[in-house]
Amino acid sequence: MNFDRVKEMMVEEQLISRGVKEPRVTKVMKRVPRHLFVEKALWERAYEDHPLPIGEEQTISQPFMVGTMTQALALQGKEKVLEIGTGSGYQTAILAELAEQVFTIERFESLSKKARENLHQLGYTNVVLRVGDGCLGWREFSPFDGILVTAGAPEVPKTLFEQMKEGGRMVIPIGGSKSQDLVLIRKKDKKMKRETLCGCVFVPLVGRGAWVTRE
Ligand code: SAM
Repeated sequence: MNFDRVKEMMVEEQLISRGVKEPRVTKVMKRVPRHLFVEKALWERAYEDHPLPIGEEQTISQPFMVGTMTQALALQGKEKVLEIGTGSGYQTAILAELAEQVFTIERFESLSKKARENLHQLGYTNVVLRVGDGCLGWREFSPFDGILVTAGAPEVPKTLFEQMKEGGRMVIPIGGSKSQDLVLIRKKDKKMKRETLCGCVFVPLVGRGAWVTRE
């Protein structure tokens, strides 16, 4: 099966037409094989305009959301980025194409393992994966130029804000457990500047300072 044409259509119809036009972002989203990050039975639906299940009741994000979040980080190629919620690893691959180094944390070991295998098979060498609570960030490698949280939080986790570089950007869904606003946070003079980008629906960020786990 050749997915080149569907990838192109996904970018034209779902991203560019809705304002995700940054050429660096659209170019990599035309290239990265999203279908390889979902199970084979879902390959034909991999480029559709919605999230898909990836196991553990989690999802690979809608392509438009991946594009919107990536564009908002405004990556130029030299950045160190922290991603919270590796999930399938698809968003991680997009970040790895656009930044120098990507650190990514996932709370489910099974998802992290699968993502690691996929990223390895696709030849990404600038990604470091870890299993744990991403709300705590990754102090050892901080501060980060960019932080991308791919699950919905009730508020900006304080620790993540502390681990942002001055002048850095964080993109995070903020709101209730059922729907949120996608928010761009900038750090200027140690203070938080907030800009709402659009409405969104993400699975909950489960961890310290976010939603409490039911386990
Ligand atoms: N970017 C992912 C992709 O493209 O496949 C989508 C990830 S999914 C919408 C959100 C992920 O965040 C889930 O895999 C979930 O397990 C993870 N997650 C939720 N809370 C977390 C936390 N505190 N630390 C790390 N991962 C977390």
